[in-house]
Amino acid sequence: MLRTLVIGGGIAGPVTAMALQKAGFKPTLYEAFDRTAEGVGAFMNIGANGLDALDCLDLADIVRKNGFDTPVMAFYGHTGRRLTGDIPTNRLSRNGTTIHTLQRSDLYITLRDEAVKRGIPIEYGKRLVDATNEGDKVVAVFEDGQQVEGDLLVGADGLHSQVRKVIDPAAPGPRYLGVLNAFGYLRGYPTGEAPGAIRMFFGRKCFFMYTEDHASNIVWYANPPRPTEPGAADLRDPAWRDELLRLFEGDRMPAADIIRATTDMAPLFPNRDLPTVRRWHRGRMIIIGDAAHAVSPTVGSGASIAMEDGVVLAKCLRDAPTIAAGFAAYEAVRRDRVEAVVAQGKYNIEGNMRGPVGRTVRNFFLARAFRKPPGKVKDPTWMQKHHIDWDAKETRYTV
Ligand SMILES: Cc1cc2nc3c(=O)[nH]c(=O)nc-3n(C[C@H](O)[C@H](O)[C@H](O)COP(=O)(O)OP(=O)(O)OC[C@H]3O[C@@H](n4cnc5c(N)ncnc54)[C@H](O)[C@@H]3O)c2cc1C
Repeated sequence: MLRTLVIGGGIAGPVTAMALQKAGFKPTLYEAFDRTAEGVGAFMNIGANGLDALDCLDLADIVRKNGFDTPVMAFYGHTGRRLTGDIPTNRLSRNGTTIHTLQRSDLYITLRDEAVKRGIPIEYGKRLVDATNEGDKVVAVFEDGQQVEGDLLVGADGLHSQVRKVIDPAAPGPRYLGVLNAFGYLRGYPTGEAPGAIRMFFGRKCFFMYTEDHASNIVWYANPPRPTEPGAADLRDPAWRDELLRLFEGDRMPAADIIRATTDMAPLFPNRDLPTVRRWHRGRMIIIGDAAHAVSPTVGSGASIAMEDGVVLAKCLRDAPTIAAGFAAYEAVRRDRVEAVVAQGKYNIEGNMRGPVGRTVRNFFLARAFRKPPGKVKDPTWMQKHHIDWDAKETRYTV
């Protein structure tokens, strides 16, 4: 059994470790932080494609025990006028799966706990600082001085990946997209909406969306524009709440009321992505997930494609004659798809920041995209209809 060092215990890491185990490898997970350090309050959506990837590992139902289903979504203009009807989210999938909303930290904890149940060792407080290819082995070096040898190393260490830098010291870093991410939460605020309905509003100056759960708690997300990336102190400034209220002044949508009533607002953070990383692998090391292709949170798909990555990588390695062939097959299968998802994230942000004419054009095409059958206009379901057949052999080698 090939010993695999999986660096990063976020989302891609545990999924990859479980997929590799199923494919006959012997993975160990190394996470930089302590187990209790992941409690970030933000919520996230998992699309049908992410649940499909989890299904390959019998994880979808386990993950779905957290959070709630989001059966419909709708878009609105800044006047409060509907641009679409309620779009059933299962229409975006290939098999009737609805989008699922849950707390990010619940997803992290559930995936790690499940990995442990399946006998995968996880070592916490292990920050990778370096790694070297040594013949048909790889040696990982951690901040505490420990060195560990494996047959291959998977870098699932997120947006600021150290493994990416080890593979290619000239690799690009994240790109700031000109807007910030603001998240808030409020308890017991019934809006009269069906539980789980995603309501998305194109304000004149700022995008806003919210969802109410079954206990009338609201989670919301907004994208205040800021041309240059603010520093950490600025992002923590409580004055952001007033700034958000100013951005929604004059819009006829529920954003301002919800923000005023908000009980928990997380510090803002920059909206970034990572469009093209030229080298994903070198020797016995490879990067996946945000380390290789971070997606703007605006598209709500980074976690789902990170989970796809882990499952597809395990399949490619299972079916390839060599590690090099497996890595090459993985890149051949994945690159176009993930880069298209990253591009969609940037496109969404540009769409959120249009002037009056651009807004009219966007609203027209958006309404049409969800009305017309796919083929007439860009099919908005392409991202979530992705399917992985675990049993089908992967044969796209380029070596
Ligand atoms: C606020 C927010 C909202 C989002 N909403 C959505 C959403 O609704 N839907 C969606 O699909 N996606 C969403 N995303 C994107 C999604 O969270 C990411 O795409 C996803 O987490 C990527 O998973 P990952 O495992 O590649 O990276 P991460 O989840 O970032 O995990 C990386 C892990 O590696 C660890 N690590 C880092 N460096 C080292 C090191 N040197 N050594 C060891 N360990 C290390 C980190 O501590 C972390 O645990 C959102 C992102 C953000 C920030």
